[in-house]
Amino acid sequence: MNSDAQSQLFDIPGSAPATREEIESAYYNTGHPLLTDEEYNRLPRAETVGHAPPAGRKTGLHKVPMLSLEKIHTREELGKFIRTCMTEMEASNVPHLDTDLKQDGLSCSITFRDGKFSHAITRGDGTTGEDISAAVIRLPSVPKQIPVSGELTINGEISLARSQFDKVNEEQTAAGEKTYSNPRNAAAGIIRDSDHGRAARSGVEFIAWGVPDTQDWTAPAHSAVMRDVASYGFKTVSASLDLPHAESVEEAVEQIFGFFESVLARRSTLDHEIDGLVIKLARAVDRDVLGSRSRSPKWAVSLKPDAERATTTLLDIKIQVGSTGALTPVASLAPVTIGGVTITSASLHNEDKIVAFDLRIGDTVIIERANDVIPKVVGRSGDHPASASTPYLFPKTCPACGAPAIRDADGKEAAHFCSATLTCSGTRKARFTRLVGRDIFDIDTLGGGTITQICDLDMVSVPADLFTLPHRISDAESISGWGPGKQKNLETAIEKSRNVPLDRFFASLLIRMVGRTASKHLANHYRSIKAFLDDIENIASKNPATIDQLKALPEFGDTLTGNMSTWLSTPDNLSAMHKLLEQITVQDLPDEVEGKLTGETVVFTGKLVSGSRPDLRKKAEALGAKTSDNLSKATTILVCGENAGSKKGQAEKYMKQGVAIQIMSEADWEVFAS
Ligand SMILES: [Zn+2]
Repeated sequence: MNSDAQSQLFDIPGSAPATREEIESAYYNTGHPLLTDEEYNRLPRAETVGHAPPAGRKTGLHKVPMLSLEKIHTREELGKFIRTCMTEMEASNVPHLDTDLKQDGLSCSITFRDGKFSHAITRGDGTTGEDISAAVIRLPSVPKQIPVSGELTINGEISLARSQFDKVNEEQTAAGEKTYSNPRNAAAGIIRDSDHGRAARSGVEFIAWGVPDTQDWTAPAHSAVMRDVASYGFKTVSASLDLPHAESVEEAVEQIFGFFESVLARRSTLDHEIDGLVIKLARAVDRDVLGSRSRSPKWAVSLKPDAERATTTLLDIKIQVGSTGALTPVASLAPVTIGGVTITSASLHNEDKIVAFDLRIGDTVIIERANDVIPKVVGRSGDHPASASTPYLFPKTCPACGAPAIRDADGKEAAHFCSATLTCSGTRKARFTRLVGRDIFDIDTLGGGTITQICDLDMVSVPADLFTLPHRISDAESISGWGPGKQKNLETAIEKSRNVPLDRFFASLLIRMVGRTASKHLANHYRSIKAFLDDIENIASKNPATIDQLKALPEFGDTLTGNMSTWLSTPDNLSAMHKLLEQITVQDLPDEVEGKLTGETVVFTGKLVSGSRPDLRKKAEALGAKTSDNLSKATTILVCGENAGSKKGQAEKYMKQGVAIQIMSEADWEVFAS
C-alpha cells in the first residue's frame, strides 16, 4: 500500500476516524473491533487478506499461504464462478463441487509433525500469523496425537458456541471487563489471553475445515480428506453438500442455493454461528489447474446471506438500562414485516448513530435484519416530515434512577452509562453479582442463583445491605436451598469480608473503568482510606493538580478521571459509600520504606541468574523501590537478564518518546542496588 492509502481515514460510528491499519488491527487482533462485520465488509478492499500480528507477539509462517475467499451473494455470481472453473479446466461438464458451512470464527492452522502437535498459527496476513500454540494445544477439541507420519497441516476455525457465549460475557461483567459483541470476537479475544488455559475452560473449540496440502491422499476429494481428519479426532464442519454429478451449471446453482436456504432457515438453531457457505472444487488436481490470485484462491468462493431491509415510521426512542448500566436507545417502530417476521422495535446503537442520521420522532427510517441478528436502524429515508421539527436529544439522566448519565469518550465506545453504580434500580443484580465476586467481597455463599433471589425479594439495595443480611435472611423462607448450614457459612463469610484491602474498596465502588488493575493503582497512590476521603472534593470539582496526579497513574486518562469526577459528585453514590464504610474496615497500605531506591519503579525481565524474580523484587522493595510485572511509562528502571525480549524493545521506544527509563544489565543492577 502506498502512504496515501495508509493515512486515509475512515469514519468510525461513534468514535474518532481511524486508518485502515487501526481498523484491521482492532478487527483481527482484539476482541473489540471498531466496526461491525457489515461495516467492515463495506470498506474498500485492501490488498492483503488480513492483518499482520501486532509487534511483540510471537509469530509463525504458513507453509501454504492461508488466503481469504472472494464473496458472492447471487445465483448469477455463483453460476459465473462455476463457468469460470469449467473454462479454466477446459471441461464441458460441471466439475465435482463441495459446499461447507462457513464457520464464523478466527481462522487458524495447526501443524503436526510425525503425528505430534507442533504449532498453531492464526491466519494473520495470510503468510505470517500469530503463534497461539499454547492455548490451542489445551483445547479438548484438538487431538494431541494423530496417526500420520511426516508433516500435516489442518486448517480450521477457532470458534465459541452460542451456548458458551453468554457465560463468557457474564464472567467479563463479573470481572468488570468489557463484554464481547459476538461469539467470534469472544473466541478471538480469549484464544490470545495470557492465561493459556482460559480458552479451554471457556469452551472455545477448533473446527477443522480443510487440509491445504493433500498430496499424501491417493484420491483427495475434499469430503474424503475431511472424513479422515474427523477420524483423527477433530471436530469438522457440521453440514456439507457434496455435488459430484450436477448435469448443468443451472442444476448445480439450484442445488447449492436450496442447501443455502435450508441452512439459513435453521441458522439460529446452530450452536456455532456461520456467516455463509464455502463452495469449492472438491479435487486437489482441479484446484491446481485454477491456482490463486494474490489474496484469494480462484477455486473457491464464499456465498454470503444478504441482509434484508424495509422502511417504516419511527414512533419513539426509548432508553433501556442494561445490566451493566449501559443506556441503550431502542427505536419503537410502526409494525413492518421483514423476511416473514413482524418488527416493532430495532436497535439504535448509541447517541452518535441518532445524531449521524439526524433521527427525529416521525421520520421514515430504514431497518435492516440480517437473519437472526437483532434488527437495527441503518438510516433515514427522505426528509423530515413537518411534524418532526426538533432534533432528538439524548437524555442526560438515567431513566431508571434519574442519576446523571456519563459518556465514555475513550474513542472506543459512544455509549452512555448510569453513574449511580451503587444505587441504580436498573443494575441491581449485576451490581451484587460483582460485589460478592472473587475480586471484591468474595462471598461465595451468595453465588449462583442466591443473589438473584435476594435481589428479587428486595433484600439488598446498596452494598452496605450485604453486611446486615445475616440478620434478615434467616427469616426469608422463600430462598430455595437456604438452611442452617448456609446461614452459618454466610455469617462467617460476612465477618471475614468486613476487612477490606484498600484496592478492593476502590473496586467495590464500581466506578466505570475502575476495575481490578485501576483499583490497585489508586490504592498505591492514596495508600490510606483517609487520604482518599480527603481528596474526594478535589476529584469531584476537577481540581487541576489532583486530576494531573491521577492522570500520571498508568492507563488513567481523561475518560477514567472524568468518570471518577462524575461518580464522586453524585450524592447517591457518596451516601451509599459512607453507609458501606460504617460496615467495613478498610486496610490501608503499609508505610512505604524509605531507602536508596525510593521513587524508583523497577521491572525485571529476561532470564535472571542472581536470584528468582520474586526474590529480586523483594530486595528492590526493601530498598524503597516499587516493582511491577508490567512495563509502563511510570517504570524508571528495567533490569534485563538474558534473552530480554519485548519489554526491552518497548522501553527503548518509550525512551525515544522522552520517558526517563534506565535499562540496565543484571550485573549493573547488582552494583546499583548493593
Ligand atoms: Zn440509573
